[in-house]
Amino acid sequence: MSEDEITKENSNEETEDRGIIEPCGEINEINNDLEEVSRALDEATRSLETTVQQAPGCSTAVVSGLSKQIIEEMNSIEANCLVSFTDLNVQNKSAAVNPFLQREAKEALARVISARGQTLVINSAYRTLPQQLMLYNQYRNGQCGIPIAARPSTSNHEDGLALDVDDPRGWEPFFIKQGWRPLRGDPPHFDYKGGGRSDISNIAIKAFQRLWNRYNPNDRIAEDGDCGQATLSRLNKSAIAGFGVSTVETASRLTTRTLRLSKPYMQGDDVRQVQEALVKVKISVTADGVFGSGTDKAVKQFQQQKGLTADGVVGAATRIELGL
Ligand SMILES: [Zn+2]
Repeated sequence: MSEDEITKENSNEETEDRGIIEPCGEINEINNDLEEVSRALDEATRSLETTVQQAPGCSTAVVSGLSKQIIEEMNSIEANCLVSFTDLNVQNKSAAVNPFLQREAKEALARVISARGQTLVINSAYRTLPQQLMLYNQYRNGQCGIPIAARPSTSNHEDGLALDVDDPRGWEPFFIKQGWRPLRGDPPHFDYKGGGRSDISNIAIKAFQRLWNRYNPNDRIAEDGDCGQATLSRLNKSAIAGFGVSTVETASRLTTRTLRLSKPYMQGDDVRQVQEALVKVKISVTADGVFGSGTDKAVKQFQQQKGLTADGVVGAATRIELGL
């Protein structure tokens, strides 16, 4: 698509009523506060029965468990409808950031980043239904200083085509060249307006509906991709830790231990997950579930690439960068 076509398409879209414009800067400030995020994640791990409606605190990182399940389910409905961009030169601000975009948007983003040749700091990307519902609840209840939030399934962060970034004016020319457009009145926000976009909001809703029905066979709802009251009320009743996460054993997958080189070596599925994530970003390591010196070296290499302290210790920041 030529520049002119993109510009034309963009000006057409600007006349469309997209509903309300959310103040992304203000929302992200609350959402990415690191203390708030770590409290939220602790809470999600401890209180496996806490629902979206009861979600504590202000960071939407608290619904990470449920969010991950919905994204997985979406990709099982339509393969690669959302793809991770953690393999690019990006730094995600917190665990509230779901580092996913539609494929064409990600490819355009890769060109943006390589053209500028520096790390892009991401404040917000894909927002899942429970994240948006949490913001919407906060807004309606006058909590967390959320001045306005869109009804779930209508936010522009739910289409897999939106990003909020640090230094937006510095990045703007690079984004524009690759089919992305800034959103007036919302400084950190860019939308991908280039080719290959599709509407994935009904896939997200259907993914939630399928999950709900699978775990609540006696309270089935229509799997119609429509975010009506029946769906919203079930979403509010869903556990923030995710479906089927109700025992100590399954909870362990949410509990994250800090991984490092030690004697004896640390072993387990969590080590294997880290190794597999490293392999995915083209760092050479054997995914054997044992944290030996090879893994230590690989982690340090990854941390160096991402501008983190290269200490070989896999804590929250490294996990986030690995997309775990
Ligand atoms: Zn935004």
